[in-house]
Amino acid sequence: MDSLLVVNAGSSSLKFQIFAITDAGLERRVKGQIGGIGTRPRLQAKAADGVVLVDRSYEPEVVGDLPSAISAARDWLLTLEGFTLRAIGHRVVHGGPDYAAPVLIDAVVLDRLASYQDLAPLHQPNNLAPIRQAMAINPDVPQVACFDTAFHHGHPEAVNCYAMPRSFYDEGVRRYGFHGLSYEYVAERLRDVAPDAARGRVIVAHLGSGASMCALHNGHSAETTMGFTALDGLPMGTRPGQLDPGVVLHLILQRGMSAQAVSDLLYHEAGLKGLSGVSNDMRDLLASDDPHAMLAIDHFIYRCGLNAGMLAAALGGIDAFVFTAGVGENSAPIRARITEGLAWLGAELDPAANDAGATLISTPASKVALYVVPTDEELMIARHTLALLRTRRA
Ligand code: ADP
Repeated sequence: MDSLLVVNAGSSSLKFQIFAITDAGLERRVKGQIGGIGTRPRLQAKAADGVVLVDRSYEPEVVGDLPSAISAARDWLLTLEGFTLRAIGHRVVHGGPDYAAPVLIDAVVLDRLASYQDLAPLHQPNNLAPIRQAMAINPDVPQVACFDTAFHHGHPEAVNCYAMPRSFYDEGVRRYGFHGLSYEYVAERLRDVAPDAARGRVIVAHLGSGASMCALHNGHSAETTMGFTALDGLPMGTRPGQLDPGVVLHLILQRGMSAQAVSDLLYHEAGLKGLSGVSNDMRDLLASDDPHAMLAIDHFIYRCGLNAGMLAAALGGIDAFVFTAGVGENSAPIRARITEGLAWLGAELDPAANDAGATLISTPASKVALYVVPTDEELMIARHTLALLRTRRA
């Protein structure tokens, strides 16, 4: 069976999926990951019907870093029978100023992607590691890079720039925006779920452990809450979201923190985790009666409303609001509270539909249609990979 491998490599986990290429399109066959790299490495994978294919733990010395995790995953993938690998699609966080669409990777492209490492030092090197490894071992298998930034490419310069001297923009200090594969998937899905809304002005709230919002106009990104890095915008599991840069200066100049310590704080210790002192996981916060957990939720809800207002202004009003990702797809109470903050825009929640996890969760009278649309970034990567594979063959 001709198939595609989709790879999403992070610092502590390596996620992968196999899609079969059938006459009917792409069918997900295997979904797996190695999590806990360097701490409690564990390879888990399931078939599409939920059957567990592997659940294996490793000593941290054996799978201590991403390259060894890639090797372990590869060893296991090679034991699978019936799949003929036609291409590998990778999630690559940064497409820099150049890439507005997925790209077939060769040595020149890889060099250029590596040059964006300074723009995303925590993610880009991890994203590129499996590409390099596959290139060395299977040079004949085409590889495709799919970017989190690409969907936001093409914003006007007034949207894209910071009010900084021109030279910084020229060297790449711009508002790139992220979660683009998720927004692109949701925008496509919306065409089936709500064709009228899909042509209109829509805010999509991707609320997972990372969180952002995107303003869509006729399915295209018009504005987003993240900027130069994935630190900006909404508060997240461990990231603060929008922060006065003066705070960073204060930490370094007055508190004497090193730049590395500030980076660790902003990426790993802030956000819901830092503010609550309880957890980065919204489920834990909702279950907790600690007042700081409640404060973290209140802050999250408040900032979601504030950012929605900003994006509504960018669009000149909104026709629909869409929830997606872990929190957005699964938490009816959080959706209910966020939509309270959209009442001024005419949004009216249907509580029964919301509690039931329906796709449309607003009342017929609501001026803003409210939807829940589960995202699927891996399927988006597989679609792009297949499309590029076909143009290459044509
Ligand atoms: P990632 O950014 O890691 O892909 P996800 O989109 O999978 O994240 O979202 C993960 C987050 O979703 C978890 O940290 C958790 O806070 C949240 N989440 C998942 N299910 C629920 C739920 N039922 N209620 C509240 N939050 C949830």
